[in-house]
Amino acid sequence: MSHETALVLDAVTLTHGDGEDTVTALDDVHLSVEPGELVAVVGPSGSGKSSLLAVGGALVRPTRGTVRVAGTDLGDLDARRLTRLRRDLIGFVFQSANLLPALTAVDQLRLPLTFGRRQDARDPATLLAEVGMSHRATKRPHQLSGGERQRVGIARALVTRPRLLLVDEPTAALDRQRSQEIVGLLAREAHEHGVATVMVTHDHDVLHHCDRVLEMADGILGTHVPVPRP
Ligand code: ADP
Ligand code: MG
Repeated sequence: MSHETALVLDAVTLTHGDGEDTVTALDDVHLSVEPGELVAVVGPSGSGKSSLLAVGGALVRPTRGTVRVAGTDLGDLDARRLTRLRRDLIGFVFQSANLLPALTAVDQLRLPLTFGRRQDARDPATLLAEVGMSHRATKRPHQLSGGERQRVGIARALVTRPRLLLVDEPTAALDRQRSQEIVGLLAREAHEHGVATVMVTHDHDVLHHCDRVLEMADGILGTHVPVPRP
C-alpha cells in the first residue's frame, strides 16, 4: 500500500457559467483523503457533491485551486495524460452501476483490463468471489438484482487496483439491508486494500461504516459530522 495522500483538493473553486448566471458549485474546498480511508460526503441536492467527485476524479478541471491524485498535480497534465491518470489511478461507481448490457458479470471485470498495461490487476474471478458474486459470474445485468449489479460495478471499479475510488449515491436504489451490505463492502475494500474512497450519500443509515463524514452546503465543504454508532 502506498502511503502518499490519495487525493488532495487545495482551495478548489468550480464555477459554471458567467456574469449574473454564475453558479458556484465548489467554493474554496480543502480535502485530503489518505489510503485506506472511507470518507462520506453528505449534503442537500445541488450542494456540490457530484461536482466534488468530478473534480477529484479528473473529469472536470477546477476554475481555481489545486487537485493532486497520488501526488500528481492534475494542473500539470494535458488531456491525454489526464485520461491515462484517470484510467490507471481512479475508479468510479455511480448510482446505477452502468454495466454493459451484453456482458456477463465476470466479463464486466475483464473489460477494463484490456486497456493499457495491467500486470498488477486483481483476478476478476477472485474479486467477484470477494464481493459475493461468484455464483452469478455468468449472468448478464438484466438477470441481476440492483444490489447485485452494484456489487459488480464496485468490483469492476476495483479490478485495476485504483488508488482512489469515487462513489456517487451507491445505495439510492437499494433497500436498507442491501445498502448496509454495499457500504460495508466499500469499507472492507478501503481498509483491506488501502483504496482511498470518497462516497457521496443521502443515506444516513450507512454512515457508521465510514471513517469520516463531511457535510457540503452551497459548495462549501464544512462541518466534520461525527460518525454515528450503528
Ligand atoms: P449535488 O451532487 O450535491 O446535487 P452538483 O455538484 O450536481 O450537486 O451541483 C452543484 C451546483 O452546480 C448545482 O447548483 C448545479 O445546478 C450546478 N451545476 C452542476 N453542473 C453544472 C453544469 N454543467 N452547468 C451549470 N451548472 C451546473
Ligand atoms: Mg449529485
